[in-house]
Amino acid sequence: MPTIPGQLTPSPRLLLGPGPSDAHPRVLTAMTTPLLGHLDPQFLELMNETQEMIRTVYQTKNKMTFPISATGTAGMETCLVNLLEPGDKAVICAKGYFGNRMIDIAGRTGAEVTTLTVPWGQVFDLNVIRETLQKVRPRVLGIVHAETSTGAHQPIEELGKLCHEFNTLLVVDAVTSVGCTPVEVDAWELDAVFTCSQKGLGCPPGLSPITFSERAMDVVRNRKIKCRSWYFDLSLISTYWGGDRAYHHTGPISMVYALREGLRVVLEEGLETRFARHVRNHHALKAGLEAIGLTYTADPAHQLPQLNAVRIPAGIDDVACRKKLLNDFGIEIGGGLGDFKGVAWRIGLMGYNSKPSSVLLVLAAMEQVLK
Ligand code: PLP
Repeated sequence: MPTIPGQLTPSPRLLLGPGPSDAHPRVLTAMTTPLLGHLDPQFLELMNETQEMIRTVYQTKNKMTFPISATGTAGMETCLVNLLEPGDKAVICAKGYFGNRMIDIAGRTGAEVTTLTVPWGQVFDLNVIRETLQKVRPRVLGIVHAETSTGAHQPIEELGKLCHEFNTLLVVDAVTSVGCTPVEVDAWELDAVFTCSQKGLGCPPGLSPITFSERAMDVVRNRKIKCRSWYFDLSLISTYWGGDRAYHHTGPISMVYALREGLRVVLEEGLETRFARHVRNHHALKAGLEAIGLTYTADPAHQLPQLNAVRIPAGIDDVACRKKLLNDFGIEIGGGLGDFKGVAWRIGLMGYNSKPSSVLLVLAAMEQVLK
């Protein structure tokens, strides 16, 4: 007789790390709705509604807008593997851990990758990017909007226009920005953008909403060789999420229910109100963290409201403190990643969790563990 594990009874947690954040209760309820078939006409209608709401959140009219059935990294991979072919030139701007992931994925497509870097915590000056575009003339420029490893917010409002002067497509990682800070795909001329379900959209991890401009789709349609990934090949997935609704893979029904509900919550609140809420709660948290002597790792002019990365004070045991927060207070915060491992803590106030009670609880608990 095999040993059967006990019933699922996770301890209550407040997820204030870099993601996942707590899902909105309405999203969790939506996920318990009975399944429909993934080609059921009723489900197809839910897909349409979900796509339309993703367009609204991304502020785009792009037809090619839908959720990839996997986490944020799958969105990153979908963008790069569809737009790049072996021998193409790509410039990837890395200012932290997730920029480095983009470099790795772009390299795996067989593209010739030029890497631009700035020290962790800083952001790119568009003049430096301009010089590189002039020199390299790449097909694709990739950049992270909200760098979750450092808390830095890259300005990209003018970057699309700049890339288009050089006939370059702009790929943006908006995994930590969508639903927390503005991402205006059409106004900012972004060509391929991906995000995740588990942060600003208040859902569990499992979907990666993407959007591709017509300019980007022209490149996809005119590839010389087949996309090297089968699962993420847009020319194939679009048979399901595009017009025909033909089978490509089994749609993750409950996750689509979740995303649809998460998007409804976002749009009921309104984008501007939601962004203002993130800023307000960030200011309250920042004042409290600074009052207990913690300092931010990101350039103060480019601090993300939804991801607060602070230096671990000298003499403090990183792991022991986070363990105490989890065990004594039920609060999860993130440790540092990559260069910031053991150097920074990351406190997320994202989506549903960006609220005064999160701020007060985490500040009170941190004061205790730092005593
Ligand atoms: N890009 C950024 C900026 C992220 O913060 C993350 C995850 O936190 C990813 C990409 C990867 O997303 P996922 O872990 O959902 O695959």
